[in-house]
Amino acid sequence: MERSFDIIVIGGGHSGSEAAHAAAKLGHKTLLITNNIDQIASMPCNPAIGGPAKSHLVKEIDALGGIMGLAADATYLQMKTLNSSKGPAVRALRAQSDKREYATWVRQYLEATENLTIYQASAQSLIIENNKAIGVVTKLDEKILAKAVVLTAGTFLEGRIFSGDKFESAGRAGEQPSLELSPKLQNLGLRTGRLKTGTPPRIDKTTIDFSNLELAPGDNQLEWFSFLPHRPVRQQYPCHITRTNEKTHEIIMANLEKSPMYSGLVQASGPRYCPSIEDKVVRFDKNPSHHFFLEMESLSSNEIYLQGCSTSLPIEVQWQIVHSLPGLENAVITRPAYAVEYDYFPAIQFKHNLESKIISGLFVAGQVLGTSGYEEAAAQGLIAGINAAHFVNDKEPFVLDRSSSYIGTLVDDLVTKEINDPYRMLTSRSEYRLILRQDNADTRLTPIGRELGLVNDYRWHCFQAKQKRIETELQYLKSVRVPVTKVNKDLEKQKHEPISYKSGAKILLADLLRRADFDYKYLNLTALVDKEDKEHKRLAEKGIHVDGLAYGYELDTMLKYDGYIERQSLQIEDMKKFEKIKIPEGFDFKACELISLEARDKLDKVRPQSIGQASRVGGVSPNDLSVLSMIVKTKS
Ligand SMILES: Cc1cc2nc3c(=O)[nH]c(=O)nc-3n(C[C@H](O)[C@H](O)[C@H](O)COP(=O)(O)OP(=O)(O)OC[C@H]3O[C@@H](n4cnc5c(N)ncnc54)[C@H](O)[C@@H]3O)c2cc1C
Repeated sequence: MERSFDIIVIGGGHSGSEAAHAAAKLGHKTLLITNNIDQIASMPCNPAIGGPAKSHLVKEIDALGGIMGLAADATYLQMKTLNSSKGPAVRALRAQSDKREYATWVRQYLEATENLTIYQASAQSLIIENNKAIGVVTKLDEKILAKAVVLTAGTFLEGRIFSGDKFESAGRAGEQPSLELSPKLQNLGLRTGRLKTGTPPRIDKTTIDFSNLELAPGDNQLEWFSFLPHRPVRQQYPCHITRTNEKTHEIIMANLEKSPMYSGLVQASGPRYCPSIEDKVVRFDKNPSHHFFLEMESLSSNEIYLQGCSTSLPIEVQWQIVHSLPGLENAVITRPAYAVEYDYFPAIQFKHNLESKIISGLFVAGQVLGTSGYEEAAAQGLIAGINAAHFVNDKEPFVLDRSSSYIGTLVDDLVTKEINDPYRMLTSRSEYRLILRQDNADTRLTPIGRELGLVNDYRWHCFQAKQKRIETELQYLKSVRVPVTKVNKDLEKQKHEPISYKSGAKILLADLLRRADFDYKYLNLTALVDKEDKEHKRLAEKGIHVDGLAYGYELDTMLKYDGYIERQSLQIEDMKKFEKIKIPEGFDFKACELISLEARDKLDKVRPQSIGQASRVGGVSPNDLSVLSMIVKTKS
């Protein structure tokens, strides 16, 4: 039996789900092949979406018409805005999710997506013709043809899981690895490396004594990932906190050499920003305690995720660690912690559209491209799905630049820098943090999503209504003055310092918001604004009425930081000039003798397509760059 599709996506994790959805939504007959349909969008590690920088990715995925934000809003157990007292650039939303409900929600969403077929099978090899991916062969020897293939195999390629000195081949605990694909792709010239990651033990809720544990509740004032209105409001569940102590650290230190990372059994690098508990105890030896969050995994199970306690120590040591923790003295482990080591493809072998540089029509995304995290995987999946669709249609590659989004920053970092440990998104990775905020992801990206064909009429209508309202509110704030005496009354009520003023002085509402000590939450417009005021009347005649700010936080940020935002916008303009200087295809970097040997090597490996991209390749100095620009300009 031979079947044929436009696009085949291998792997139904977070990456594959977004890729398949995007490709199908763009009108292509798409097949999602995955090892186990019941594991679509499963969360093998933390039952949570979002958090610092990751929430930016989720909101960007949503703004472009992807699914992760909708799924997180529909299935949360707790919503919390992190860093709310810090600046707008680092403010981040985190949802603790019901992982079972989340996976079911995504699966049902995909099942209801037009043009998308889901098939449970294991991809064994790719069909390649003239260096072009034209299909997949499954373990049952079925040949399925396609015009493009997206590979999102997660931790499954040559996957091996470890607890102490016990190890077995597996994609993750209880799931078969994928043992054929990686060697076959190596034979085709793709380079692989090894990475590892780990997960903590899960605990039976009924065996934990919560009575003395610190409570960590969600927010009262809910925020959401999706920019669409009418999200379901659900009950919020608190989580709890326990802490390691001297006994825990003694147990870990006494058993350190039993950890496969310390015994040398596992050599691969793990996620730098998600270290195992044994790593934390060794690296931060001055720290007498580390906290663990106890998070519910699902309303339909008793399992608790012990966030912060990722380990690959042997199971008997895991029991000792767990029993040393306050509240967990009699706790029962339901699933042991483990580490997984797997093959990945260093991303510098791929272009900015995530297509292989040597096999055309092969797109790769997610953990298998060297990242860590559901959100990073989903973001790349979306880009790979869109680009596979563009490839099939013979359209220009779709590339988001760094100044547009964290998604653009993620992809650019991956394909221009040699990355040796699982890449996790951080706000510090962006040079345009004040512009790339989570609150304005829709302003930055929904018009792009609309142009691509991923944003439907309903979302577009909601977006336009929001933009209009923001414009109206901004115009209002920039036109209406209120007496300082009235403002001071409000400030007094909030127990804040009054504003010093000359008698009879009025202040522009926008200037009020520009003040560092004044927050949009104090802006009680109904009390402040005199309806008989000339400016108010003039605006009312033009149909501009504002009784309260619907988008206070965004406006507050726009006004408070407008100087910085303008400066970053100028920087972006400058950067775009360099992006526009294209390096011809096939350019011989090795022949540029005036450039340092290291830079020539790195440039040849990465093969940047513009001077802008070349400037971000590690090991390329400003001098190398100016020489390269000169050579490129004289040759073009
Ligand atoms: C042990 C462990 C620890 C983790 N630790 C962290 C962490 O510390 N921090 C963090 O942020 N995230 C962590 N993660 C989360 C996680 O792996 C990813 O970041 C995320 O799930 C990656 O999404 P993905 O879509 O790329 O891959 P996955 O979610 O792994 O999905 C891959 C999918 O591809 C399928 N597949 C693979 N090969 C084939 C094939 N040949 N044919 C058909 N289907 C195939 C699999 O069945 C699976 O459904 C951890 C995961 C594991 C397993």
